[in-house]
Amino acid sequence: MGRRTLYGTVIVTYRCNARCNMCNVYQYPTNPKEEIPLEVIRKLPEMAFTNITGGEPFLRQDIEEIVEILSQRTNRIVISTNGYYTDKIIALCEKYPKVGIRISIEGLQETNDAIRRIPDGFARGYGTLKKLVEMGHPDVGFGMTVQDLNADDLVPLYKISDEMGMEFATATLHNSFYFHKDDNRIDDRYHVAENFAKLNNELLASKSPKKWFRAYFNHGLINYIYGNKRLLPCDMSRNAFFIDPFCDVVPCNGTCHKEIMGNLRDMSWDELWHSEQAKRVRAEIRHCGRNCWMIGSASPAMHRYIWVPAWWVIRHKFLKGGRYDLSENRFITGPDKQE
Ligand code: SF4
Repeated sequence: MGRRTLYGTVIVTYRCNARCNMCNVYQYPTNPKEEIPLEVIRKLPEMAFTNITGGEPFLRQDIEEIVEILSQRTNRIVISTNGYYTDKIIALCEKYPKVGIRISIEGLQETNDAIRRIPDGFARGYGTLKKLVEMGHPDVGFGMTVQDLNADDLVPLYKISDEMGMEFATATLHNSFYFHKDDNRIDDRYHVAENFAKLNNELLASKSPKKWFRAYFNHGLINYIYGNKRLLPCDMSRNAFFIDPFCDVVPCNGTCHKEIMGNLRDMSWDELWHSEQAKRVRAEIRHCGRNCWMIGSASPAMHRYIWVPAWWVIRHKFLKGGRYDLSENRFITGPDKQE
């Protein structure tokens, strides 16, 4: 087995039982009979990391078989879920104890349920997380997409996750073909940025190097919210890809239109990855100016250009005494001076 370097995201379904305000995927559900089948998942290449996502991945009846196939060709799997289907999630984690689970929770109960619009969503998601922690599942955490409505819950939610010994993954609003959205926006950027800054101070004060690097990722989110150039180059379509329920391989989930590199039903992985079509998409994406900052594209970049976040961590953790201050970002001039 050669060195695994690719980052893959497998969107197993566009069906979803939630109705999140920042994502319209639920309005365009896939037909279960037409969703990426196991024989196509078997064609995927060796990967360093695979994210299984949706829609809601646990709506797939064959999610265990999907995990079984992928666990043979990837070093690490993380499933993003809303945590509603507790029994299915627990059963899968009992069978695959190394699989990571990230449950999207958008704030404390009231805020979460207002954003995700899933009956009893917070109680179900939080209950699943608690059970996973109680059974000693090693890789479990929250995922939160920060927006105006929930920015105040960011640090309180982090503290809950920290007390439970869990990971805490952050994101912010994006627009793209994937979300079927073009009107997601943050109105009070400074307020949201301030909350990310508070979180960064908590993370930098911790003893966990992983959390220090998460602070850098959050710094990138603030930079994105202010409409700046990405902190790191984007190498999607070269060292990372997404595959959707229709078996279309696309560079990422951030473009406004779907840019298809090829359909994996029709050919082998090698044929697709080295095809003229894939090369054309790569050439276009090289000039992509969308500057997204989502974990799917930022994480491979942080690994590839590791010295950039590493130097940022050294500066903030050791030279600045663990302090992160918004005013160090020259583009942030305070709440009154936003465009
Ligand atoms: S910046 Fe990267 S992740 Fe975002 S749309 Fe462009 S290529 Fe995709």
